Amino acid sequence: MKIEADTTVCIGAGMCALTVPKVFDQSEEDGTVVLLDPSPPAELEDAVRRAVTLCPSGALSVS
Ligand code: SF4
Repeated sequence: MKIEADTTVCIGAGMCALTVPKVFDQSEEDGTVVLLDPSPPAELEDAVRRAVTLCPSGALSVS
């Protein structure tokens, strides 16, 4: 799994960081997403897909 995060559309809602804190964090400056692990281990895949679904701005995608 490979994650991409588009910080230009991220609105800093923080759902991703709340859902999978091992993979997502938020910038201290503007709250936009910080990708801690763009290729997370398989056991985090379900949680990452949930975070992608929950993101209100569509900033996250997985392949
Ligand atoms: S959930 Fe979406 S909008 Fe919110 S911080 Fe994460 S990427 Fe940005």
